[in-house]
Amino acid sequence: MTDLSQPLAEAKPAAIAPPLWLLAELTYRCPLHCVFCYNPVNYTDHKSELSTAQWVDVLRQARALGAAQLGFSGGEPLLRDDLEELVGEARKLGFYTNLITSGIGLTDKRLDALKDAGLDHIQLSFQDSTQELNDFLSSTRTFELKNRVAQAIKAHGFPMVLNCVLHRYNLPHVDRIIDMALAMGAEYLELANTQYYGWAHANRAQLMPTAEQLKEAEAVVERYRREIGDKCKIFFVVPDYFERRPKRCMNGWGSVFLGIAPDGAALPCHTARSLPGLTFPNVTDTPIKDIWYESDAFNRFRGFDWMKEPCRSCDEKTIDLGGCRCQAYLLTQDPANADPVCDKSPHHESVIKVVHAAAARAPDEHPVLFRNDANSRRLATSGDDDPPTQGAPT
Ligand code: SF4
Ligand code: SF4
Repeated sequence: MTDLSQPLAEAKPAAIAPPLWLLAELTYRCPLHCVFCYNPVNYTDHKSELSTAQWVDVLRQARALGAAQLGFSGGEPLLRDDLEELVGEARKLGFYTNLITSGIGLTDKRLDALKDAGLDHIQLSFQDSTQELNDFLSSTRTFELKNRVAQAIKAHGFPMVLNCVLHRYNLPHVDRIIDMALAMGAEYLELANTQYYGWAHANRAQLMPTAEQLKEAEAVVERYRREIGDKCKIFFVVPDYFERRPKRCMNGWGSVFLGIAPDGAALPCHTARSLPGLTFPNVTDTPIKDIWYESDAFNRFRGFDWMKEPCRSCDEKTIDLGGCRCQAYLLTQDPANADPVCDKSPHHESVIKVVHAAAARAPDEHPVLFRNDANSRRLATSGDDDPPTQGAPT
């Protein structure tokens, strides 16, 4: 395996563009326990959080570098009571701001304050169109509350993206999820098929859909797009495992995306912490300009020199940049390998096997693993993938 703890052998690329998109993960704390949560499974190892003053400094430095889009995310960013102050600072700096939230804690009072602070956009997540599945997948009773929050967001005049992560359990509900988004007046609906990192990877056997489910859901989305026109823009992204070429992950490592984790670690993508051996610089002791242009972590997978075969000599490498480093590591144990979603990868068979196993499996064969502190601590200390779980509704 490529040893990421060793200093970078290759020179950094000559031309590095500035970051455009800053994701401020204000906290890993969250009242929900989603089985597909994209936070690291060992998030309990990273409990410290930047202060308000440190976040303000992050915003100023990133804006000075050129970042223009800013997402406030988490965990649940509303758990930070300085959110409004940070939004206000971001507005003053000229960022376009988006709040990415489960909706829990988004009261009328906070919506008023966020409006006054200049928040531009809100992305609200649902787990499903049914109370039963929404509440099961988040291990909370939040469906009714989320519905009220959606109404409040619209009543306050915010443009709204409704986000729903798709998988084996809710793909048959895609029509009802679209109806729900239309009824709520959402301008955008993001039907985000599960990407298998973090908690979703731990629950991969449960969540992986069948090819038929995906095909049917895509046909439903196409029908709605024809019928509703511009009323609501629907994004539907097919999960990597069903493709023959990988995605151009984050539009390239260290290319446009700068993520800052709650403890100040700077990340080229929000799952990069899963890569062993790579030390991520921290904004508490390193200027963001140095992190972006000079750090080993951000230069590690820029350009093409890091590539192994078959990517190194592949005539498609400028299109997908070899795919996702985290997926390459999770499925081949070497982050410098080709993303095995690619059918030119010698490891592609591992992806096919997972897809075939999903098709052959009864829906409730595997219990699910909820994101919570106890499971996180157990995974962090033991690497054990088998903490207490609970059967999913069929
Ligand atoms: S995916 Fe669920 S548990 Fe994870 S941060 Fe979002 S709302 Fe919280
Ligand atoms: S071999 Fe590598 S560069 Fe070529 S298409 Fe596959 S992942 Fe992309």
